[in-house]
Amino acid sequence: MLNLDDEQDKIIKSLDGTPTLLLHVCCAPCATWCLKKLAPHFDVTLYYANDNIYPVDEYEKRYLELLKLVNFINNKKCDIEAVKPVKLVKKEYDHQAFEKVALGKLQKEGGPRCFECYKLRLQQTAEFAKDFQWFGTTLSVSPYKNAQWLDEIGTSLDCNAKWLPANFKKKGGYQYTIEFCNKYGLYRQHYCGCTPQTEE
Ligand code: SF4
Repeated sequence: MLNLDDEQDKIIKSLDGTPTLLLHVCCAPCATWCLKKLAPHFDVTLYYANDNIYPVDEYEKRYLELLKLVNFINNKKCDIEAVKPVKLVKKEYDHQAFEKVALGKLQKEGGPRCFECYKLRLQQTAEFAKDFQWFGTTLSVSPYKNAQWLDEIGTSLDCNAKWLPANFKKKGGYQYTIEFCNKYGLYRQHYCGCTPQTEE
């Protein structure tokens, strides 16, 4: 089994210049550590595409927290350094797209529904990433997310951009997200995104 965190470190060391990266982002807390690691090396655009999140008010709330984080970084008000200003793109919310892939699969974090949920979001990211050099996701920072599944999906997608392997929960990544949110007052949600509404 590949050590995805080491693989990412090797890629970062071998970079020439500041390549563009489209980074799928689930929420501001998870983005903190991923940007701490990546924004000094890549020209990062965050892609907020999370049809799984329910209800829509929660989708909007998490987006606004991301905007706050991006402003902190771009205005140098926190310890995350970015070689280029961080950009943020929001996909239009389409919860039905999630329901289509989730229906019939029980809501249990780490279960088959999550595999389909990752796949939906990474497919959407790959479609948007055509003009980028790299694409990836913040999802692996959560201890509940399966980094090997994410890598399996990411490497299988047909995209001009190269997939960036990751297991951001390594090297204290998850702990950093908690400490950052406490320090800067960022909202940390208490559930991943989906609800029993789409259960069997
Ligand atoms: S628990 Fe999270 S990752 Fe799994 S299906 Fe629900 S929203 Fe998606």
